[in-house]
Amino acid sequence: MSAKILSGKEFAAQIKESAKLEVEELKNKFNVTPGLAVIIVGENPASQVYVRNKHKTCEELGINSEVVAMSESTTKDELLAKIDELNADKNIHGILVQLPLPDAIKSHSEEILNRIDPLKDVDGFHPMNVGKLVTGSPALVPCTPAGCIEMLDLAGIEIDGKRAVIIGRSNIVGKPMLHLLMARHATVTVCHSHTKNLAEVTREADILVAAMGKPKFVTADMIKPGATVIDVGINRIAPKKLVGDVDFENAVEVAGAITPVPGGVGLLTVAMLMKNVVKAVKFQLEEKNS
Ligand code: NDP
Repeated sequence: MSAKILSGKEFAAQIKESAKLEVEELKNKFNVTPGLAVIIVGENPASQVYVRNKHKTCEELGINSEVVAMSESTTKDELLAKIDELNADKNIHGILVQLPLPDAIKSHSEEILNRIDPLKDVDGFHPMNVGKLVTGSPALVPCTPAGCIEMLDLAGIEIDGKRAVIIGRSNIVGKPMLHLLMARHATVTVCHSHTKNLAEVTREADILVAAMGKPKFVTADMIKPGATVIDVGINRIAPKKLVGDVDFENAVEVAGAITPVPGGVGLLTVAMLMKNVVKAVKFQLEEKNS
């Protein structure tokens, strides 16, 4: 039996449609046009593609998008000053700094990201938002794991009471995924590079999230028959060939539902960013009225 393919394109289109309606509502009700500023430092070609995508999606949805392109030689202080300026700009509701930063300032990434006003932190990386996620308060949540939850909901896949296993414990994917799934009443196990007998653990999962960055690492025998498999991995194995962390061709015969790579979770991330910009506007309106 072949698994249901969870198409990122289809779910991303639904998420963007709902964000577009919210953007229109914000314009009509509050006379606010959401604004996103994306700071890109240097010439990293992959980053330039991601930033172009974000800009294009904003335009599609009626969100004002400002791309702040800064030279490779930008200093930490210059970047912090730019963030301060955007923090104070009333027309900008969301700010993100495209990673990775150039080598010369990479070691300051944390300080730089923490300078973003938490209410404008649409990547959800600020410790204030991380803390709120952990304690279950309304927060801006990292787009990739938030997109996975949104997809499960749209696909009608139950989370409550399920066994979920996440492979990967990064701050961007694994850890927020843990809190999002736990908040939805899944019983969650997080695996990492020190986990013993990984396959034994993954075979218990009703929902298996692979976020490790290892091409085709998760093989069919690691998957419980009928499980939902979410492949977050993006691995370039040849100039024009991307694969996920899951051995899709074989896994598809065992899983109940599975995301492909490409065409899966990656597409949800940008769509969720748009949702986060809308959420940021709402938080800022609440703050102004409180
Ligand atoms: P990191 O490299 O930050 O984290 C990888 C995690 O996987 C670590 O926790 C690591 O464990 C764990 N891991 C590595 N090898 C093994 C192993 N053999 N067994 C068990 N666990 C292992 O990666 P990210 O979380 O940033 O990204 C993960 C993948 O998701 C990458 O392919 C990335 O490109 C992709 N990604 C996709 C996005 C999208 O939009 N779809 C967005 C973000 C990421 P340990 O902590 O012990 O080192």
